[in-house]
Amino acid sequence: MSSHPIDFQIVAEEGNARSGTLRTRRGVIETPVFMPVGTAGTVKGIRFEELEAPDLDAKIILGNTYHLWLRPGIEIIKACGGLHKFIGWERAMLTDSGGFQVWSLAKIRKVTEEGTEFRSHIDGALCFLSPEISMQVQAALGAEIAMAFDECPPGEASHEDARRSLELTLRWAKRSKEAFDVAQAASLVTFNSDGFREEQTSQAGSPHQAQALFGIIQGSSHLDLRRESLERTVEIGFDGYAIGGLSVGEEKPVMMNVLEEIAPRMPADRPRYLMGVGTPEDLVESVARGVDMFDCVLPTRNGRTGQAFTSRGKLNIKNARYASDTMPLDENCGCSVCRRQSRAFIRHLYLAGEILASVLITHHNLAFFLDTMRSVRQAIRSGQFAKFRREFTEQLSSGWE
Ligand SMILES: [Zn+2]
Repeated sequence: MSSHPIDFQIVAEEGNARSGTLRTRRGVIETPVFMPVGTAGTVKGIRFEELEAPDLDAKIILGNTYHLWLRPGIEIIKACGGLHKFIGWERAMLTDSGGFQVWSLAKIRKVTEEGTEFRSHIDGALCFLSPEISMQVQAALGAEIAMAFDECPPGEASHEDARRSLELTLRWAKRSKEAFDVAQAASLVTFNSDGFREEQTSQAGSPHQAQALFGIIQGSSHLDLRRESLERTVEIGFDGYAIGGLSVGEEKPVMMNVLEEIAPRMPADRPRYLMGVGTPEDLVESVARGVDMFDCVLPTRNGRTGQAFTSRGKLNIKNARYASDTMPLDENCGCSVCRRQSRAFIRHLYLAGEILASVLITHHNLAFFLDTMRSVRQAIRSGQFAKFRREFTEQLSSGWE
């Protein structure tokens, strides 16, 4: 088996925007790519059959280490044959390190050199997560791409606080890499005829690597720290690089400024992943600055609160003006919901508290995000991205009236 778990090739560039292919054992992923978030092993409100259908065709989803580690727990997932088999998703996956969820969800946190102590948001149990534990948990989950364990400072962190956090993240990145190499050498992953992983114990010192590991660039909104974080993370050496700590309360121009400064400087031959971002316009603007991969809960979360993303901006289905509107959510969308159901019906479902309202809007929202990325890829590959970006942005602000 190849010792390289992923292979990334750029096929077209326009300005800083790029389009490529990311090969994994579980299929080829065309970039730029949006990854729906499968928090607890489920992309909320949608079945995998729908995610795989031609109108969505998601090639990779994200799993949250923090959530899966706390519930149902790694022993159960291991006993069920790893995360892919446990949840019934055969395509590629990426797991985060758990660091961000500890930061955003857990009740009490105590960050030490060793790791982070916190109370579970589920039952208040005292838990401890470290680079070593995160790597072991992610190895057991078995996603194609794992993430280094980092600390995420707030968007408005002072230079001094961001510096302290950055140094800790770099020490944790080294420990993540070492623990990752140990975990990879300890488990030889093979695949049975159904494409599911089977784990065997390998000989000591095997160079085999089943998963890819991405490093994370931090540094808050301070460009000098971001540049330093990039340089020192690349020195450690990862299969891909992520920009963390954005979209965490800072102003939008601050985020775009960091991206403009950092993304084009990231290694050109490795995937560049912007974590936890964002709206459709954020995606297109970040692609323009050189980003290849995205994940965000917006399409699914907003799908549950009656908010649709459309080619003409956001549409709130609660609005009375849609009460007898026979148009689909987005007349420019070819998803199976827009081909069949009207705004009036979806609004009725929403007001009646029917779960199908969330299901339908979530489906459309994911279709819109995934289709936007499809258009972005085609535009870059045909040298039309600048034009696409201009027209897409103009249309987004045009509204439905
Ligand atoms: Zn649609």
